[in-house]
Amino acid sequence: MAHSDHYLPLYDKKGNFYAVMLSAELWNKYRHKLEPLIEGMLEEIEPVEKPEPLHEWDEFKQYWDFKYPYNARVECGNCGAQTEDWTTDPNKPFRFRGAQISGLAVFQCKPCSATVRKKHFKDHICFEYSLNACGCK
Ligand SMILES: [Zn+2]
Repeated sequence: MAHSDHYLPLYDKKGNFYAVMLSAELWNKYRHKLEPLIEGMLEEIEPVEKPEPLHEWDEFKQYWDFKYPYNARVECGNCGAQTEDWTTDPNKPFRFRGAQISGLAVFQCKPCSATVRKKHFKDHICFEYSLNACGCK
């Protein structure tokens, strides 16, 4: 890439490349394009895991009116990971993604990253899973 006053690679005293400086003019002009790109890159380098929305599970539990007793079992049809209670399992094989009072609870399987949907119907539960199309986490 061409060096200019707008784009300058920076080196420390030992000559090690450590950063790139963009001029304020360049930044201000293309900020709207650069910021989303940089944010995407940062997420790859240092992913910020959103906290599990545990309040959704609490609410879901509160409105439990299915014909079977409360259960927090989760199983992954893809890799076979399972837990009798994801809320207390010290190995935490599943990450809770959310729940709806209507009966859908969504998890992410940690060993294989499949998305696991636990569907609570009036008198039975069924599990479905899907893999991320790109296979990445
Ligand atoms: Zn799995």
